[in-house]
Amino acid sequence: MPLKVIYSERFLEYKEDGHPESPGRIKAIESFLRNKKNSFEFISPSACDEKDLLLAHTEELVRKVKENSFFDPDTPNIPGIYFYASLSCGAALEAVRIALAGETSFALSRPPGHHAGKNTLGGFCYFNNMAVAVKKILHETGLRAAVLDIDGHHGNGTEEILKGEERAVYASIHQYPAFPGTGSVSFGNCYNFPVFPGSDSKKYMDKFADAVAAIEDFCPDVLGISAGFDTNMDDPLLDLNLEDVHFYRMGRMVSKASVKKVFVLLEGGYNIKTLGNACFCFLNGLSGR
Ligand SMILES: [Zn+2]
Repeated sequence: MPLKVIYSERFLEYKEDGHPESPGRIKAIESFLRNKKNSFEFISPSACDEKDLLLAHTEELVRKVKENSFFDPDTPNIPGIYFYASLSCGAALEAVRIALAGETSFALSRPPGHHAGKNTLGGFCYFNNMAVAVKKILHETGLRAAVLDIDGHHGNGTEEILKGEERAVYASIHQYPAFPGTGSVSFGNCYNFPVFPGSDSKKYMDKFADAVAAIEDFCPDVLGISAGFDTNMDDPLLDLNLEDVHFYRMGRMVSKASVKKVFVLLEGGYNIKTLGNACFCFLNGLSGR
């Protein structure tokens, strides 16, 4: 069965010159996946509702993004960004809907989300797609949800929004020290697996196995993966050393875990030349091909 990819050409409409979070990122992944005939089925998302955003964010943050009344050095204040951030979040909610119906799904969207906190944007993120998705699962079902964050940066926003939730856990493997400077220790329902800059792939994969084990101990019904590919050895923003074979293995390990309802959201990854294959390898491992 083809893996469902939630994607819209509208994600390509906005950009800031010279910014690493560019439309070329998801265009590269989309082209790569479309060339793998019959492996992927593309589905269009709709923007989420404001009430969905308010499951994870304050009215103040939603208003600031809607009115373009904010400043952050990394996160450009672009006309219409409220629509694009809501569309990205809507793609995440569509991915959840498909996963709950029993099929693995991937939201190929931008902007990413895992650095956006309850009342804060930052790190190229306006609204936290993963946190909104998990909050909606918790709000509308009795299910237990886990987040596995494999972006090379710590998902400080997701951690902030989900900490203390009885029916959710957050686990992240990330470079430390690095932006945003959090994620050095675990606490409560948040499991952090920091990896030093320059660490070899074995060190990373050992921590990845620990993160998957922590999630399995929680016995979740549904797993959301914050998939960033800036752990790639050629990524310009971080100093980690994963190659395509590791992305494939990570997908395989998740596919063999006990949780069967799985959705994947794109976070970072900034080398346009390597992004398509890295993402393909992960999804291939995940779908057991
Ligand atoms: Zn990242």
